[in-house]
This record gives sequence, structure tokens and C-alpha cells, in this order.
Amino acid sequence: MVCPYCQKNNTKVVDKRDNNEEGVTRRRRECEECGKRFTTYERIETINLYVIKRSGKIEEFDREKLKRGIMRAVKKRQLPDAQIEELVQNIEQTLLNHESTEIKAQEIGEMVLEGLKQIDDVGYLLFASVYRDFQTIDDFKKAIKSLEKEYKE
Ligand SMILES: [Zn+2]
Repeated sequence: MVCPYCQKNNTKVVDKRDNNEEGVTRRRRECEECGKRFTTYERIETINLYVIKRSGKIEEFDREKLKRGIMRAVKKRQLPDAQIEELVQNIEQTLLNHESTEIKAQEIGEMVLEGLKQIDDVGYLLFASVYRDFQTIDDFKKAIKSLEKEYKE
């Protein structure tokens, strides 16, 4: 941050206030060179993410919808909300760092599976059964087998 008075690039934050306006952070800064104070407003740029559905349809990424989908699938496991929230947050973070703003729904589904695997085996299987559309007991057996295999490795 360059000081507007002396143009030196040596300032420190002396006070941070979240503004009532959403997404804006107001910072009081002090120049360490000339001692003058000034205020900066920082706005987080919102990045719109898009999901490419299996059908080829594109829709805006909706984290709440993703969360609801996960919660619905693993409802019976009664996982703590904070755990699901963390999972969704991690996925969102990964998506924001993705080189493209368009992501295949499939990729997101795999991320959920990867995350659930770390949290809860049965939750993982439940989500997999919905997401991968398990039709037979064999589908479950195969999924369990690959889980077991992973533990041995
Ligand atoms: Zn200055």
C-alpha cells in the first residue's frame, strides 16, 4: 500500500473495521515514513463459478445447494453441521483456485466423495450411492471393497 501523501510504500494497519456494507473492509493505515494516517476500503471481488451439468447445461455454482445435497444424502449419519460446512468450504476454496470458472458437476461430486471419505465411511457410501446411482448390492460391495483396499495401502 502506497502512502497517498509521500508515496512511500511503508504503511501499517492501525485499525480494521468491517463496514456495514457487505464485503467491504475499512482499514485505517499509518505511513511509517511520514506518520500520516489514511483510510483504505478493500472489497473482495466476487468470482462467479459455473457448474457444467452432465446434460451440458451450465448453471451458477450455489454452495448452499451443494451443502443441502450433501446433507440430504448423509442425513442418517447426523454428521455435525460444522463438518459439512468445512467440507463445502474446502470445495469452494478449491473451485476458486481452479484455473477455470467453469467446473464439471462430476468433478465437484468427486471432491465431495474425497472429502466424505475422510470424515465418515458410511456417509461416503451413502453419497456415492446417490451420486454414482448405485442400482444393486454389487455396486455397494464394489465401493466398500475399494474403500478397504485404500485402507490397506
Ligand atoms: Zn507517507
